[in-house]
Amino acid sequence: MLNIVIFGAPGSGKGTQSDKLIDHYKLFHISTGDVLRDNIRRGTELGKTAKGYIDQGQLVPDELIINILAQVLDENKDKASEGVIFDGFPRTIPQAEALEQLLADRGTQIDAVVGLEVPEDELIKRILLRGQQSGRSDDNEETARKRLDTYHNQTSPLKAYYEKQGKYLAIDGLGSIDGIFDLIKKALDNR
Ligand code: ADP
Repeated sequence: MLNIVIFGAPGSGKGTQSDKLIDHYKLFHISTGDVLRDNIRRGTELGKTAKGYIDQGQLVPDELIINILAQVLDENKDKASEGVIFDGFPRTIPQAEALEQLLADRGTQIDAVVGLEVPEDELIKRILLRGQQSGRSDDNEETARKRLDTYHNQTSPLKAYYEKQGKYLAIDGLGSIDGIFDLIKKALDNR
């Protein structure tokens, strides 16, 4: 069993590489961004609350997102027991601490954190291109810059947090999709 976190700035390629990791290592995918967007589409209370934060480039409050994650884990116990890829979570130190506790309570842990490292100008380019293609309401230039600020202020400290635990695998996120995936596989298999 393998539990991994795919980590990186908005636009770093987490979703793309997650798809390949799921396929290769047979992992269960938990994307907090997807869960939130699904709630927005269905017009739930959670969706209404989340949309306000997302469209401002801010994070949804920790307590809310931690409860969602616990719920998703419990609703998918069987699939989750074979290995999970966490995509878009944790995004803050308190979320990482909560994840550690949630997994410990279930007799498991994070094995590795795959960190996709991409320069800032490339991130902006990719986010704007995705916005043109997908119409995601948070993929415009103003919100993208705010999301990158949020990432630097609240999420990037997680790199040092996981380095201290010896779990962080730095991956050069510039290059072809398959080339990057090869780097990830090598890093995971040579741990
Ligand atoms: P990206 O990685 O491209 O920024 P995501 O799809 O992971 O996009 O998330 C979109 C938005 O959903 C984030 O900008 C944030 O507002 C909200 N969100 C997703 N995951 C979390 C989380 N773990 N904590 C707080 N907010 C989150």
